[in-house]
Amino acid sequence: MPLYEYLCEECGARFERLLPLTAIDDPTSCPQGHAAGLRLISIFSAVSKDSAGEPNLIGDGCGGGCTNCACSLN
Ligand SMILES: [Zn+2]
Repeated sequence: MPLYEYLCEECGARFERLLPLTAIDDPTSCPQGHAAGLRLISIFSAVSKDSAGEPNLIGDGCGGGCTNCACSLN
């Protein structure tokens, strides 16, 4: 699942959530319970195009074989 970073507009807390793609637009509350989470980034959302025009994920630095990042799904 993608990891998203949020900023609470109420208390300024930054926190992270693992959410399925189907839930990214759901309301997200901060650790203090404020329902004002503002999604900042997804570490898996940054994509680029390689020379062949195929989208590539940026930031896959584990080299494969790990069990706790998206590359293990490949
Ligand atoms: Zn808060």
